[in-house]
Amino acid sequence: MKNFQEKISEVVIRRLTDYLRCLNYVKQEGKTLIKSSNISTKCGLKSSIIRKDLARFGVYGIKGKGYDIDELIKQIGKILGLDKTKNVVLIGAGNLGTAIIKYPRIKNANFNFIAAFDNNSDKIGKMINDTQIYSIDKINKFIKKNKIEIVLLTVPVSETMKIVDSLDSKFVKGILNFTSVILPPKKNNIFIHNIDLAKELEVLSYCMKKCTL
Ligand code: ATP
Repeated sequence: MKNFQEKISEVVIRRLTDYLRCLNYVKQEGKTLIKSSNISTKCGLKSSIIRKDLARFGVYGIKGKGYDIDELIKQIGKILGLDKTKNVVLIGAGNLGTAIIKYPRIKNANFNFIAAFDNNSDKIGKMINDTQIYSIDKINKFIKKNKIEIVLLTVPVSETMKIVDSLDSKFVKGILNFTSVILPPKKNNIFIHNIDLAKELEVLSYCMKKCTL
């Protein structure tokens, strides 16, 4: 695999995660090789785009046979930084936070979902499935002890900035921000992704409108 320095757009990275899902699915069916045309059918993308995306990282198939599925899963995992398990916590065990914790796909081999934090004394000490809710006062001690790299944020808008600024950036390297506060892509050296379902609906609305023009 190429040791790339080239800036890769997020669109390409999002496609890689689609390929990974597709490959894991095909692997479960017992296949060992896959052609870009098969990935294309499953992901709804042109084969040429898939080949180009993979070639960008120095990943090529075997002529006439396609890609070795295990190898490709390994390579994409490396590209996405999934070769090392990351410890994750959630802050804000309200309705959305609880739903996220209960979502089975959030827990997998790549992301070790360890705990939730809240400031509501009625919630502290309780469990959401097998995830314990701790007091927010303990967050940085916990982050240090458990080497937490990723924080999922589902607190009210008014609390968002305060919490982001309080996180120990020696350990926390990424935040998935589900609040409606638009945070910058990087703050205090922590990468931030804003996830806003209302925004997705607006984009969908635009796509639907464009199709009817
Ligand atoms: P609920 O009504 O069950 O509290 P909600 O989703 O309607 O849930 P929000 O007001 O959005 O509530 O808050 C989400 C969660 O964030 C709640 O569990 C709340 O107790 C928690 N929370 C609020 N402020 C903080 C804070 N400073 N630190 C940690 N958790 C907080």
